[in-house]
Amino acid sequence: MFRRRSGRALAAIALLVGLAGFSSAPAAARIRPIPPTPQPPHSIVRGPHDEGVPLLMYHVLNVPPPGAPFPELYVRPSDFAGQMAWLARHGYHAVTLDRVYDYWSRGWALPRRPVVVTFDDGYLTDYTVGMRVLLRHHWPGVLNLEVRNMRSPTGMPAWRVRNLVAAGWEIDAHTITHPDLTTLGAAQLWHEVDGSRRIISREFQVPVDFFCYPDGRYDAAVIAAVKRAGYVGATTTNYGLARPNGLFTLDRIRIDGTDGVAGFASKLDDVRG
Ligand SMILES: [Zn+2]
Repeated sequence: MFRRRSGRALAAIALLVGLAGFSSAPAAARIRPIPPTPQPPHSIVRGPHDEGVPLLMYHVLNVPPPGAPFPELYVRPSDFAGQMAWLARHGYHAVTLDRVYDYWSRGWALPRRPVVVTFDDGYLTDYTVGMRVLLRHHWPGVLNLEVRNMRSPTGMPAWRVRNLVAAGWEIDAHTITHPDLTTLGAAQLWHEVDGSRRIISREFQVPVDFFCYPDGRYDAAVIAAVKRAGYVGATTTNYGLARPNGLFTLDRIRIDGTDGVAGFASKLDDVRG
């Protein structure tokens, strides 16, 4: 807990420094801090605290270019904005996975209708579109960062990740090079799982509590490595509500380019039963 708090304090300092004068990072001037998380003792849940929570899974927020190899990974910016507005209209509040974990493990209350908005890999549009839209609602996102994407022209350079942290985002690990982890030997598996956590926490001075399996591929050896590296949970591409009885195989709800707002709404309604 202490590490998490200190991560937020550092994020606040980073924000102030950013506002004070990084003219090379103009987007920083528009970032407003997320309101502070309600703290105990006034927000402890009495009784069970094991409700499932929807974790939304996004990749690129853009129109797919002609011939894009994986067009289903693209969600149009207008659709994403409409989907977030739909959530707000229906009483949802986006939170981080760390907050969901605090609720499951300690009973710290979540807002009504919690939802987690996750972005896999680290595409530039998750910053240029995702953060901008979420800030309208004063919501954080969760970035599952593939470390290599900090060096890609269509990726997420470190200064942008820093701004996401300052805007209240959680940064989780999604390996260094996005391999199929079930095919790796023990040393390479450890390098990808433990190494990505170390790089992200050192670079951004934040706790990295969750891991996201590349392409949703995992087996018993992969899960064991994720646990040994110190993560408290991991997200998959399995469809459903995330529940605390499967912390290392958390289900998510994939949102793709064909959903629009209506398909998005029916996915959420269906999964909640
Ligand atoms: Zn991925």
